[in-house]
Amino acid sequence: MSLNFSKDKICVVIGASHAGVNFAFSLRKEGWEGRIILFDKDPVLPYHRPPLSKAYLTSADAIDKNLLKSAEAYDKSGIELSLGVTINTIDRVAKHVVLSDGRLQTYDTLVLATGARPIIPPIKGLREASNVFTLRTANDVERIRKAMSTSVHKKVVIIGGGYIGLETAASLKKLGASVTVLEREERILARVTAPEMSDFFEKLHASNGVEVLTNKNVVSIAKQANFNQVMCADTTSYEADIIIVGVGVHVNVALAEQVGLDIANGIKVNEAAKAATDIYAIGDCTSHYNPHYDRFIRLESVQNAVDQAKIAAAAICDKKPVYNSIPWFWSDQYDIKLQMVGLSTGYTKALLRKEEGTQIKFSIWYFKNDELLAVDAVNNAKAYVLGTKFIKNKTKIDQLKLVDPFSEFKPAALMIK
Ligand SMILES: Cc1cc2nc3c(=O)[nH]c(=O)nc-3n(C[C@H](O)[C@H](O)[C@H](O)COP(=O)(O)OP(=O)(O)OC[C@H]3O[C@@H](n4cnc5c(N)ncnc54)[C@H](O)[C@@H]3O)c2cc1C
Repeated sequence: MSLNFSKDKICVVIGASHAGVNFAFSLRKEGWEGRIILFDKDPVLPYHRPPLSKAYLTSADAIDKNLLKSAEAYDKSGIELSLGVTINTIDRVAKHVVLSDGRLQTYDTLVLATGARPIIPPIKGLREASNVFTLRTANDVERIRKAMSTSVHKKVVIIGGGYIGLETAASLKKLGASVTVLEREERILARVTAPEMSDFFEKLHASNGVEVLTNKNVVSIAKQANFNQVMCADTTSYEADIIIVGVGVHVNVALAEQVGLDIANGIKVNEAAKAATDIYAIGDCTSHYNPHYDRFIRLESVQNAVDQAKIAAAAICDKKPVYNSIPWFWSDQYDIKLQMVGLSTGYTKALLRKEEGTQIKFSIWYFKNDELLAVDAVNNAKAYVLGTKFIKNKTKIDQLKLVDPFSEFKPAALMIK
């Protein structure tokens, strides 16, 4: 019998969110009989993060409506959850971690699932301004909801026009706010989508009464008696009683750095999520090798956190799993559902496929020469499913037929034989 199935073994997981929690349950499922201890600095029972900027923000729900697993589920699987505890140090030689209260916890296998944290940009006056929030935790949502309920003018400025900024804009608009999004680049979502998609989302927000302004580099904030004056490099300024900062994340790699793991835009891991002897890393904090794109990538997505969690659990239990997923992601804004599959980085051509009918329904297909790299599908699950299949199988597609709305939207009709 493998040593990993011994009851005496201890697996310690740092970070109890999508990656850490899924890992713990997968490890049990794979047959690990030893202790599994999950640590997280967040004192709240682990919850789903995607709804934080979407339905959860606009609801009055308590966090227990949004949990990854019930408290009983951890008990039932013999998973020890230690919340409100920060791990500050790892000793790789002694094989223990040091808890914030000074206690030591030994491990046989260590899993880093430390994720990422919001960037606080160096904007003059940001720290002194009132009602400034990032959005990563349940507590952030509680504070934003509270500020919204007590704000008289509900004037919100969102710094950053990425997915989190835009979803938050749509949600706060729904709660009755007057919202302005300030984006530094010349278009929103510039890093992740084609200009056509940026244009679509700019118009979508405008038609819902949200002001989206680009080329707006926020340089300082002046706190006034009842509001903040948000000032941009082009000398324009915007009043806000609530400011949301959504300009990206820093990866939590300090612990990994401390113990000399290889770091390059995240903790470097192999296809089995292994970072070093007896140490694995999973989720947003990793840079992992993706065989399909033949390069190391770092993803911020639930799917990747769950996939890597399963891979690491299987590997620890002596299976030979290999990470070979095509990344996918989604975003909900107003009544629009965007589903994205693949990675469009390096695309040379973006083709638009529109469907007939009254409902907004289209997709953008990203190619590098003949190779399909990624698909962004708006209210179009079929395009998302087809795109996934084509990318996975490296199918060559008839691009003329693809953009013809009268050609059949089926594999047989689109594939080049
Ligand atoms: C508002 C919002 C909306 C999102 N929407 C989507 C979406 O629509 N679709 C999608 O796929 N993804 C979405 N994401 C991204 C998704 O939530 C992340 O990819 C996912 O949470 C990654 O999980 P993770 O476990 O790797 O990291 P995280 O969720 O970042 O969790 C890491 C955990 O580690 C803990 N931790 C870190 N360091 C320590 C330490 N030293 N000691 C103790 N604990 C520590 C942290 O407290 C945290 O709980 C969204 C994220 C946010 C914030």
